[in-house]
Amino acid sequence: MSALLAVRGLRTEFPTEDGTVVAVDGVDLDVWPGECLGVVGESGSGKSVTFLSLLGLVRPPGHVAGGSIRFAGQELRGMSAAALRALRGKAIALTFQDAQTALNPSMRIGAQIAEVLEAHLEDLPRTGAARRAAVQARAVELMRMVGIPAAERRMGEYPHQFSGGMRQRIMIAIALACRPQLLIADEPTSALDVTIQAQILDLLDDLRARLGMSVVLITHDLGVVAERCDRVAVMYAGQVVETGPTEAVIAAPRHPYTRGLLDSAPWLDDLDRPIRPMPGSVPNLIAPPIGCRFAPRCPHGIDACGAPVPMREEADGRAVRCIRPLDAAGSPA
Ligand code: ADP
Ligand code: MG
Repeated sequence: MSALLAVRGLRTEFPTEDGTVVAVDGVDLDVWPGECLGVVGESGSGKSVTFLSLLGLVRPPGHVAGGSIRFAGQELRGMSAAALRALRGKAIALTFQDAQTALNPSMRIGAQIAEVLEAHLEDLPRTGAARRAAVQARAVELMRMVGIPAAERRMGEYPHQFSGGMRQRIMIAIALACRPQLLIADEPTSALDVTIQAQILDLLDDLRARLGMSVVLITHDLGVVAERCDRVAVMYAGQVVETGPTEAVIAAPRHPYTRGLLDSAPWLDDLDRPIRPMPGSVPNLIAPPIGCRFAPRCPHGIDACGAPVPMREEADGRAVRCIRPLDAAGSPA
């Protein structure tokens, strides 16, 4: 089996007046058919920019400056804007971090879904009433699929008439309009309360199983990853610092940053566990440390951490960017 998506050495830069922000710096990622990959890290670690880069959605003067992006065996880097747009609607879909702004506030929901269907579906009748009826029927079907009650009636409503959870469902419906092989959901539940959050995550699980697609779930919440994802990639300051099967990574994180995320997250199944916030913040990406980017915040840093640290492959599909990876007891090597 080969990966559906294979990213190697991805680098994305934003020129600014103060210097070049290297928002993504040498990111490698694989997404396998049918799996859910969690991408987790604090705000500002480069999660959104990584996936916007894949799809040619980085706003100029920001640009992808290096690396390779293979999707279903095809290289996406260097593809024309038109070819990427076609792919984006069809094979790969993305729901944006902010459902509020991603939907057009002055357009009825039904029309917004229809617009995507019109642009991308080839098996529609060519003209006239039959085409309109087919688009309408498929739009209702999609709204039902994502669990919007009274779909037919609600097609005529505007985004503000829906709750946050329902708007997120609509975004997912739009993303699924063209039956993608890969759905990238960027913080789909961050703005929602816990109950609604669980419902949206259940929906994504269910759709992934039913449609046989792969899902990338971007989140700052390691608890969400622990419950929902087959594998996880932990990002810090524009780089992947640890990756592996979720269960193994959560049970015994190798990178002190992953450990820090774990210790600073509340866990619903263990409310007595003390929460230890991580000190410090993500470094400036104009001039990040040459060596380990987490070193300034790391409780185990030594002088050698000041030299560049490559990603190191380990057993059982794990990899870590650390010269002193933690053992199962949480002690550095
Ligand atoms: P995350 O999704 O993990 O919260 P992002 O991918 O949005 O993080 O951002 C990664 C880094 O790139 C941040 O430091 C952010 O400030 C920077 N960045 C994002 N967009 C731009 C831009 N248009 N211009 C300059 N810097 C940007
Ligand atoms: Mg983001």
